[in-house]
Order: sequence, then structure tokens, then C-alpha cells
Amino acid sequence: MADTVLVLNAGSSSLKFSLYREDKEGVFTLNFRGLLEGIGSNPYLKSVDISGKVLIEKKWDDPGFASADARDALLGETIEWISHQVGNDRIIAVGHRVVHGGLKYSSPVIVNNDILHHLDSLTPFVPLHQPASLPPIRVMMEKLPNVPQIACFDTAFHATMPDKAKRFALPREYDDLGVRRYGFHGLSYEYIVHHLQQTKSPLATGKVVVAHLGNGASLSAIKDGKCVETTMSFTPLDGLVMGTRTGHIDASIVLYMLQEQKLTPKEIETVLWKKSGLLGVSGVSNDMRDIQREVETKGKNAISAQQALNLFAYRLITEIGRMCAALEGVDGLIFTAGIGEHDAQLRSEVCSSLSWLGIEIDEQANKAHQELISTSNSKVIVQVIPTNEEAMMLKHILKLAKN
Ligand code: ADP
Repeated sequence: MADTVLVLNAGSSSLKFSLYREDKEGVFTLNFRGLLEGIGSNPYLKSVDISGKVLIEKKWDDPGFASADARDALLGETIEWISHQVGNDRIIAVGHRVVHGGLKYSSPVIVNNDILHHLDSLTPFVPLHQPASLPPIRVMMEKLPNVPQIACFDTAFHATMPDKAKRFALPREYDDLGVRRYGFHGLSYEYIVHHLQQTKSPLATGKVVVAHLGNGASLSAIKDGKCVETTMSFTPLDGLVMGTRTGHIDASIVLYMLQEQKLTPKEIETVLWKKSGLLGVSGVSNDMRDIQREVETKGKNAISAQQALNLFAYRLITEIGRMCAALEGVDGLIFTAGIGEHDAQLRSEVCSSLSWLGIEIDEQANKAHQELISTSNSKVIVQVIPTNEEAMMLKHILKLAKN
């Protein structure tokens, strides 16, 4: 009988899960992982162990799964399967990735009913994200009442930002309502800092800009391991150009859509979050690889695809400049997440535009996606570090569970 920890990451229609089991050396290693997707439409559950052996593959075709009760039943069924799979081992804690911790939670917390209620009250801030995180916590609290449910927040890492970086220039009452710059992707940034500390990198105590470039994209300016500025703000819509999100735009555009185009709030939400970014500008896809292929093969949308790539890179470069200004200098630039880890061409373009900062990269090392891609002459260390948000969650969960 061994101790295990379950790590959950819920999206609007999916639930990713990973089970870690303590080995003889006391280290928690991955035992199996899985995905429940299509919640609310055609649910599909699949789980594999570390050797890749399929443990379960199941489809449901009941259209009734769109209701909240049916969703909870589906989550309950998945959790029961996981518990069955755990067998005689003991689940000592369950960790949940939660988008928003609000002003109150700047570190992971064991959830009780009051905390769950508070997290629910933050839903108006991030209506597309927060509601997804909460049903799995609720269902878990019912199914495994004696097991601590630990919430790990995407906002927490940015709590160290100074007041001037957190405020909007709105009338004070908005700030009192919690309308402020929070920042997201915190578990990813925290992992990068952890990695720098573990590898005894001089950047662990330096001025670093980290570029988390995935479907969602953001930057964080980090000094001595602490966040001083970031590009996402009140919601994960702000900042850089993303797969389907606008990034920063003039707020008056929203008024134009509302007053002149007579769009409903829901329609505006869809434009801003789902139809913009790389997808909106390229007219091709939200996926970087599809857009690059369109340019390379000179497809019918090649010009707009190239414009999307140019815009993505330009906004990234200018925002990195802003992060350097907040840091009053820069010692390191780190690329992470899908695009950051794999797109050597973009990294090269960004670094060449930033050569005025003294950045010089080794193109061979960059093409090979090595961890260190700057030359020994470069005034700024440039690294590619694969992110691992789950590892960060596991660390927090074990710390809280064992206390
Ligand atoms: P998410 O934010 O959903 O976790 P990821 O971090 O997996 O996303 O990043 C997804 C993005 O990474 C997509 O735009 C995808 O095209 C891009 N990507 C993955 N591999 C490559 C590659 N080899 N070159 C360019 N972009 C890539």
C-alpha cells in the first residue's frame, strides 16, 4: 500500500488527471494519466499508464450531458474509476488548478466550503475560466470527504507585483471592487524560477523576462525570483497576441462593437476571446504551425498568415521591451510553452530585433532547441526551458498535505 496524489486540471469541457505514486525512495512518480473531454457534448474518457498501455477508453453518446447535474455525474463516474484504479493505495491529497485566487489567495490552499464559495464569487471576473475549476473540487469533496482538496492558483505568482503594476487608472472604487491587474500562467512562471534555483543559475537572483508562448501567451518580468510585472491583467485576455484572443486592445473598441455594431455582450466576448488573435488575423488557424505552413506553401491566405506572424512577433518584441523597462535592465530571457519551446525561427527573429539589448544567440544551439541558446558574448543569457506546471502543483500539494 503506497501513498498517491491526484493532480487535476479542469477546462471548460475537459478534465486532465494524473496520478502520482510514492516509490520506495519516497519520491512521487507518475503512475497513470488521462483525459475526460467533450463534457457537455460527446464525453470521451481515456487513460494510459506510463508504458502507454490503455487503461480505459470509454465514450458516452447521451446529449443530456449538457446539464450541470449530468456533468457532475460524469465527473463522479470518472473519479470512481480513478479510485478503483488506485486500489489498495491511499490518495493522500487531490490538487486542482484554479485560474483565479482573487486578492485573498496568493498561495495554494486546502479548500473548505467557505473557500469554495469565495472562489465561486470570483466567477464574474473570469466567467469563461473560473467555473470550470470548481465542479471537480465540489464532486471530490463529496466523493472523498477525508482527503484534502488543494487549490493551486494561476494568479498567485503575481501577488508580489508592486501596487503601481497592479492598478488600473480607473476611479478608485473599481480597485476596491477587485478590478485590478492580477496576471496568469503563474504556475508556469513559478516552475521556471524553481528550475533556475535547482540548476543554481545566476538568473535565479537576476532580472529575467520569461515568455510563456502557448495558445494563451504572456510575459512575466521577474526579479530575484519574484514577479514585478506581467502582460495579462484583469483576465487572461490582456497583453500579447494569442491563438484566438486579442491581447491588449483599446477598450473603446468594445464600446464601438456595443454601440455602433449593436453586438450583444456575449457576441463581443466571442469576438475577443475566440475569433481574434492568430486565428482572426490570419483567417487560417489558431495554431502557429498551420499558419507557418500556409506561408511556406504560399496558400491562398499566405499574405494574411504572414501578417499574423508579423503581428505576433512585433507585439512580443515590444512587450519584452516593456518588461525590461519595469525591471530596469535584463540579465536573462527565457522561452517556454508550445511556441516558445519549439519555434526556433520566432526565437531567432525576436532575439535579432532585441540585439540592441546586447542579446546574441547561437543559431545552431537555437535550431537544436538546446537549453542555452545565447553565445558567450551575449550580455543577456537566453534559455529555452520546457515548462512543467504539474510538477509545481505536485510540490505544493505534497507540502500542504504533509503538514
Ligand atoms: P496550451 O496553451 O494550450 O497549453 P501549448 O503550450 O501546447 O498550448 O502551445 C500550443 C502552441 O504551440 C500552438 O500554437 C502550436 O502551434 C505551437 N507549437 C507546437 N509545436 C510547434 C512548433 N514545432 N513550431 C511552432 N509552433 C509550435
